[in-house]
Amino acid sequence: MTTHEHPHTISIADYNANKSFIDEQAIWSVINNAANPSAEQVRQVLVKAKQCQGLSIEETAILLQNQHQQLDEELFAVAREIKNTIYGNRIVLFAPLYVSNHCANSCSYCGFNADNHQLKRKTLNHEEIEKEVAILEAMGHKRILAVYGEHPRNNVTAIVDSIRTMYSVKDNKGGEIRRINVNCAPMSTDDFKTLKTAAIGTYQCFQETYHQPTYESVHLKGKKKDYLYRLYAMHRAMEAGIDDVGIGALFGLYDHRFELLAMLKHVEELETVCGIGPHTISFPRIEPAHGSAISEKPPYEIDDACFKRIVAITRLAVPYTGLIMSTRESAALRKELLELGVSQISAGSRTSPGGYQDSEHEHYDAEQFSLGDHRAMDDIIYELVTESNAIPSFCTGCYRKGRTGDHFIGLAKQQFIGKFCQPNALITFKEYLNDYASEKTSVAGNALIESELAAMSPARERNVRICLAKTDSGERDIYL
Ligand code: SAM
Ligand code: SF4
Repeated sequence: MTTHEHPHTISIADYNANKSFIDEQAIWSVINNAANPSAEQVRQVLVKAKQCQGLSIEETAILLQNQHQQLDEELFAVAREIKNTIYGNRIVLFAPLYVSNHCANSCSYCGFNADNHQLKRKTLNHEEIEKEVAILEAMGHKRILAVYGEHPRNNVTAIVDSIRTMYSVKDNKGGEIRRINVNCAPMSTDDFKTLKTAAIGTYQCFQETYHQPTYESVHLKGKKKDYLYRLYAMHRAMEAGIDDVGIGALFGLYDHRFELLAMLKHVEELETVCGIGPHTISFPRIEPAHGSAISEKPPYEIDDACFKRIVAITRLAVPYTGLIMSTRESAALRKELLELGVSQISAGSRTSPGGYQDSEHEHYDAEQFSLGDHRAMDDIIYELVTESNAIPSFCTGCYRKGRTGDHFIGLAKQQFIGKFCQPNALITFKEYLNDYASEKTSVAGNALIESELAAMSPARERNVRICLAKTDSGERDIYL
């Protein structure tokens, strides 16, 4: 594994962790000042967005409050264009691995909350983790998102041990997990330094709601009650040298306009103070969870149409940040959101510890929330290829070559994607097709690879064909 120095050294002296950088009044003024924008104002912002330079918070507020329905289609068209220009038709796949549903907090929207006495609590041991990973490898997965409740059992030492176990499991086809992203409670800078020693990919932590009064009303117990400690989690992670971080808001708790603008403020803050914005943004939306009354009827429920606008507007506002869609959304909606800007999705997922081993049974007694998409990985891949013309990518090249942090912007990043991401997507997809795919997926996938090769420059095509031929002759883990 290649390691590298953090490109920007930040220290606690660079930020004031006792003062929120989210100014509630200021965000509401931006929202109010952009109320009822004219069609001309909206179109001006769309023209600017097409330059792929991102949008200011004020411009984003205009798009968020567009009332002209016909302009929604124009917004979606720009989002599709940006997605295509920057990312092409690749889609990165991963699987969540729930290691522990033990949790000492009481978040009123989550089934793992400490007051849910119906839930069967489980923290996977070494052997159980190995079994889960083996199942994911047999599906073809190379990336895992490891998820943990906040509990003394899930301290940093236990988390690091569990990640080491995950990396150690290899299958007889040369299958292995090559990148493990982590979604766990925020920690001290020193603990983040320890977490980094496990060679994690992205550290992910969602603020849930950036609106402090709402935050305090839904986090009833435990360490998570502390809004500021969570708000500065990414500063501490970066201070510890983890420069791929993933942020998000749990939509449904508060006004979505406020959440999105505050999330952009978070992006700005990280760019200013730490020198790098977040690597990814996630869009969890509250799903019904057993043992959580609020999740049945969230106070600010957003419908699919609004959710699509949120994803499209984010694509315009931060064109170079990866957008993640989880298992939580239905297959049909995920397909639309892919076109509008989502660049990573989870596939074939379970949200209970041990859920892959026992996937025959519905795990309502241990699951965090119910899922919208129950299809198997191979079905999802077949659908991506045949219906969305998308190339499923299992690439982990950048992280393993030490190309982490978001230091590629603009044209440089677009050229970079053509040079590395697109070829690596094809090579890792070929590996999947040879080792794990069903017959029909293999036929459809190989046809897609051929059509992608035909569209490349002759030099690049030659280069990629060499790697594909090596893959066919049994070599594995080839990446540029
Ligand atoms: N315990 C850690 C924490 O809270 O940050 C990490 C694990 S927690 C299970 C991961 C995420 O699940 C939370 O950040 C929250 O956004 C999401 N989540 C919780 N309850 C949910 C629900 N009912 N529907 C959708 N997402 C939910
Ligand atoms: Fe625990 Fe995280 Fe669920 Fe809150 S969201 S109850 S901290 S697992």
